[in-house]
Amino acid sequence: LVYDVALRPVIVEDFACVTIAFEDKTEVQEAGQMRRDFVANVSHELRTPLTAVLGFIETLLGPAAEDANARERFLTIMDREAKRMNRIVGDLLSLSRVESERRVRPTAEVDIPAVLRSVVLSLQPVAEKQNVKLIVEGAETSEMVPGDHDQLTQVFTNLIENAIKYGGRDKEVHICMTSHTVEPTMRSSAIRVDISDQGEGIASQHIPRLTERFYRVDSHRSREMGGTGLGLAIVKHILNRHRGRLRIESHKGQGSCFSVILPYE
Ligand code: ADP
Repeated sequence: LVYDVALRPVIVEDFACVTIAFEDKTEVQEAGQMRRDFVANVSHELRTPLTAVLGFIETLLGPAAEDANARERFLTIMDREAKRMNRIVGDLLSLSRVESERRVRPTAEVDIPAVLRSVVLSLQPVAEKQNVKLIVEGAETSEMVPGDHDQLTQVFTNLIENAIKYGGRDKEVHICMTSHTVEPTMRSSAIRVDISDQGEGIASQHIPRLTERFYRVDSHRSREMGGTGLGLAIVKHILNRHRGRLRIESHKGQGSCFSVILPYE
């Protein structure tokens, strides 16, 4: 705890006394520290691909100027790294947009099964590359919840993309919707969407930290897969704004299940 202590002399009638004021500075200091950590993380995340691109430009302008083979290889790497920077900046913008929005009740109605079908359709090529089968269950009829269509699309895109990425090749991802579930912590009944994969799972000590910005269980693996480390932070903020929840269940070696719970009202 950090306190600012101020001694303030006051005169009460003929008596001189001193009041001691304690002001709790802990939260202010923590916010400052979080901001500094965030700037340091962003700088590090962007500097890594930028350093690679700058290094390859130098090589292409110097020793490898005449080497067509090297040029092809280096340009491919530079393309990959520049795209990574682009994704990081895009995710940072999304995050800052959803963080700065006040938690107001969304006015539009969003058809969740329709969102799931369109997300699955757009991720089909990504799944096919890994020979992953996307299986949707229980999402045949319309089910509306109040929400922001684009933001909820982003939630399901991030979670299904992760399930494809971390679930592993030649596996299945199940997307299962249940309507009218009762959540003890919610005032109204809710829609629940479980996204389960057959990957390696996540050790329990990591689970509470997964929605922190840039937190990754295995940084190398996440970068290899083109991850930015911001996907679940974005999901958490969007769901907060919708008074929804994200529940993560996973056991090492037994796959993971990410559940989105959205209230009807
Ligand atoms: P990233 O861009 O690294 O995927 P996310 O915020 O989406 O960032 O996820 C944070 C971390 O959570 C990932 O780096 C990964 O370690 C872990 N993770 C997310 N989804 C899964 C999953 N389905 N299976 C195993 N680990 C996962």
